[in-house]
Amino acid sequence: MLRRTFLATALLAPAIGACASTGADPLAELPLDPDSYARPNEARVRHVSLDLTADFQRQRMRGAATLTIAARPHAREIVLDAHRLDIESITTNLGETSWTIGAHDTRKGAPLTIAITPGVHTIRIVYESGENAGALQWLAPAQTASAKPFLFSQGQSILNRSWIPLQDTPGVRITYDARIVAPADLVAVMSAEMLTPEGEAAAGGRAFRFRMPQPIPSYLIAVAIGELTHRDVGARTGVWAEPGVADIAAREFEDMPRMMQVAEALYGPYRWGRYDVLVLPASFPFGGMENPRVTFATPTLLAGDKSLVDVIAHELAHSWSGNLVTNAVWADGWLNEGFTSYIDDRICEDLFGEEQALMARALAWAELEREIARNTPDTTRLYGAASRVAYTKGALFLHTIERFIGRDRTDRYLRSYFDRHAFGPMTTAQFLADFRSHIVRGDSDLDARLMLDQWAYEPGLPANAEQPQSPAFARVDAAVAAFVAGGAANAPWRTWGAQEQQRYLESMPRALSAERLAALQAAYALNETGNAEVLFDWLELALRNGYEPAAAAAERFLTSMGRAKFVRPLYQALWDQGPWGRALAQRIYARARPLYHPIVQAQVDRIVAA
Ligand SMILES: [Zn+2]
Repeated sequence: MLRRTFLATALLAPAIGACASTGADPLAELPLDPDSYARPNEARVRHVSLDLTADFQRQRMRGAATLTIAARPHAREIVLDAHRLDIESITTNLGETSWTIGAHDTRKGAPLTIAITPGVHTIRIVYESGENAGALQWLAPAQTASAKPFLFSQGQSILNRSWIPLQDTPGVRITYDARIVAPADLVAVMSAEMLTPEGEAAAGGRAFRFRMPQPIPSYLIAVAIGELTHRDVGARTGVWAEPGVADIAAREFEDMPRMMQVAEALYGPYRWGRYDVLVLPASFPFGGMENPRVTFATPTLLAGDKSLVDVIAHELAHSWSGNLVTNAVWADGWLNEGFTSYIDDRICEDLFGEEQALMARALAWAELEREIARNTPDTTRLYGAASRVAYTKGALFLHTIERFIGRDRTDRYLRSYFDRHAFGPMTTAQFLADFRSHIVRGDSDLDARLMLDQWAYEPGLPANAEQPQSPAFARVDAAVAAFVAGGAANAPWRTWGAQEQQRYLESMPRALSAERLAALQAAYALNETGNAEVLFDWLELALRNGYEPAAAAAERFLTSMGRAKFVRPLYQALWDQGPWGRALAQRIYARARPLYHPIVQAQVDRIVAA
């Protein structure tokens, strides 16, 4: 996922041991996941078959999940994760069985323990999702481009247990199939192969059938239902979107086939069949979510000039790092996000050239420095990182490896890493052991120079980290210095790309007078900026300084999209500003809150007191 804070987990001692087998043993030992009640080393879900109806009136998914399981001979129960599911009945292939739901935890939900005996292979659970299921967002017609109802799910990291009873831990991989009944005028799309593009007549609407034959972690099961239409962008890539958005998205993302070529040339064949991007309504809380076969993306990427398509490169990169080789538990999340951010840099370098790639890396370095300055040292370790550190420091780790061992060797290693561990879980300790056995090979001098353990387990930045130097940014920095020294706002703004504009605004002193902010607005028309990243940088700077002429632009932005990365810091800037900002935050939030995803509502609720 991009720009997503995944749930923090307690720091645990790194697991030590041999690489997990990804071979035939369906019960190969998995590390314990503190975010799940499942005990997959005793009994494990292998396949999920869903037959669900999307009930838009009651905002529930209801129907049945049939689980195919594997269990040790001595196992007498299987434990699933469930978050406020209303369960009607549970039966096995042998008939009736008993089950219990344990104590409910607000974040983790509850263990669903089902009695099994030898000979139990399948378990059928008839149920419906509970009220306000965390993974599901039901949008009213007024919240969509098509003026039709819309539903989408967001499983990462531990939300899918709110609409599917399963072992909701990334170490357990499952295949799935599904039959989803949607209202007759809407289309269902899932993170799976679509078997019935036209749908089939069904009681209460239209049914769509899907199949995901590759084993995936539970958080990658995803569904969207809306007035959706598809446009091809090349032979095996395309976009899904509401009708008014589909052509715009297809143009914006026309580089998808090239991105795919670049990624495959580096890391081997794409293993998921098609690759589509589904552009969601504006309340989608993230930049993108790498659901297999169909990335879910925010419409804020549609800048009109392809300046934000790096997010698509990022989500595509997850087809290798994350979806193919997956963090075993969420404390290893940097293996998903750091690797992906590095690959995303590589794809963008090939597409847009070295200068742009250096700018992206320099922006990431500055972001990492801010993150390290803002956080306690403990939260800047890669292992256990629950913030942007997982992305920026993780990518920098791989760029550092590349600097020491060379690009060719790094590329060959990563390709073989993805091949050897395909469709398997990975821990931090296993990655380091794998890297040492394939690359370091007992060269203690190389090991010391790489500082592998410091990168993975120590706070802050190891001594061998190297700041990326962007010549283009040197020119931007000179323009900032001239302005700060009292000069006019006369940077060559319109000749700059979005990254230079971001650098310019992010490098400004955090305290600026209304007069100086007015000079920036007059010169660069910042309130009218179309690029969401640049607009965000400007609004944060302006609002923190109580600059009233930015209020209308802030209100437009905050009531037109619900992306957490933009929404949360802007409310925080207003709240920190004082009485003017607080009154404005309350007024905007009263209008905007219904648009936001529950995840984002919860974040802003903590900032804006009613
Ligand atoms: Zn990501």
